[in-house]
Amino acid sequence: MYKGVMVIGEQRGGKLHPVTYELLARGRVLADKLSEELSCVILGYGMEQFAEEIIQRGADIVYIVDNPTLKNFLPLLYTRVLTKLTQEVKPGIVLAAATTQGRTIMPLVAAKLDTGLTADCTELDIDLKDKSLLQTRPAIGGNVMATIKTPVSRPQMATVRPKSTKPLPVNKGKEGKVILKDYETNLFSTCEEFLGFIKDTTQDVNVQDADIVVSGGKGLKTRDGFCMIEDLASLINAAVGATRDAVDLGWIEYPHQIGLSGKTVSPKLYIAIGLSGSVQHLAGMQTSETIVAINKDKDAQIFKVADYGIVGDLFEIVPELIEKLKNKKEGKDSLQKRSEIYDKV
Ligand SMILES: Cc1cc2nc3c(=O)[nH]c(=O)nc-3n(C[C@H](O)[C@H](O)[C@H](O)COP(=O)(O)OP(=O)(O)OC[C@H]3O[C@@H](n4cnc5c(N)ncnc54)[C@H](O)[C@@H]3O)c2cc1C
Repeated sequence: MYKGVMVIGEQRGGKLHPVTYELLARGRVLADKLSEELSCVILGYGMEQFAEEIIQRGADIVYIVDNPTLKNFLPLLYTRVLTKLTQEVKPGIVLAAATTQGRTIMPLVAAKLDTGLTADCTELDIDLKDKSLLQTRPAIGGNVMATIKTPVSRPQMATVRPKSTKPLPVNKGKEGKVILKDYETNLFSTCEEFLGFIKDTTQDVNVQDADIVVSGGKGLKTRDGFCMIEDLASLINAAVGATRDAVDLGWIEYPHQIGLSGKTVSPKLYIAIGLSGSVQHLAGMQTSETIVAINKDKDAQIFKVADYGIVGDLFEIVPELIEKLKNKKEGKDSLQKRSEIYDKV
């Protein structure tokens, strides 16, 4: 009998990856809807120290497989161990993050378990009629949203976009079970060797890791107008984001697109300029800590999620903002130069 929700936590270099907390938040909602338990699996070496925090972030059970060979991510070895554990625990739902690790091992594990996998989901829910998992993701080039069910095979498996969920706050009083799984040595023997980790920088526009993102939409009117977004972003060390319309108009390349069919971000500060706040755009940024919106339409949807809103013409507001920031920066620079001169005297 397959029961419960299991999330596959991630560690890098012996530290728990924050995406684990996002998965726990997702898993908790599903487990509560099913009135079943939420478990979290961690493969690594020396990871037991994180078990308590995993429980405080939502898990009822933590499975730890601790072995020196699991220190670094080795796809075939991780697949073998996860397949074994999943066959033993028999969860009804298995979730992983749509990271390099999750995207690599989940199809392999799903194939070994002879079940399906919905990759890169943006929404997950439970169909209360038959308690099955509703897995929603963009399809057909991002033009439709498809909701997928796995009616026959178990477990139901999905990967979830990183940054699409806010982690749950730490609940110090929460209790749970920690289960250390031990397996025979031959399960851990592998021909794979970890040589190093090389970051793929070809699509790297640093939107997902940035603390501040400044995003522009169709309200910028032209490519020249969109340059204001880039100027503002460079003054405050922010990454540049864009709506799909701005990308389709050729004002900026696709890797900058935020939203359902683009990237999901959750920065400390998200500044939305001249964009309406369509549901598809909100899906990629509404977990941002603080949202500031500039729009001339006071009824624009973006104001519904904004913490601070400025209703007005961006062509008046943004140049003034840029001017003020430049003056402030120049003031700081000249102060810095003066103090350097004094230091030398
Ligand atoms: C399946 C699917 C997937 C999609 N995926 C994405 C996605 O990933 N990301 C995404 O962004 N969209 C996506 N879209 C498109 C989405 O539906 C909207 O069309 C798009 O987000 C709108 O972009 P926008 O806000 O730039 O343009 P608009 O909706 O046209 O908004 C422009 C805004 O600018 C304001 N404005 C105009 N002039 C000024 C001015 N002078 N001063 C101040 N404000 C001004 C207007 O009031 C308006 O609110 C998707 C659509 C579908 C169907």
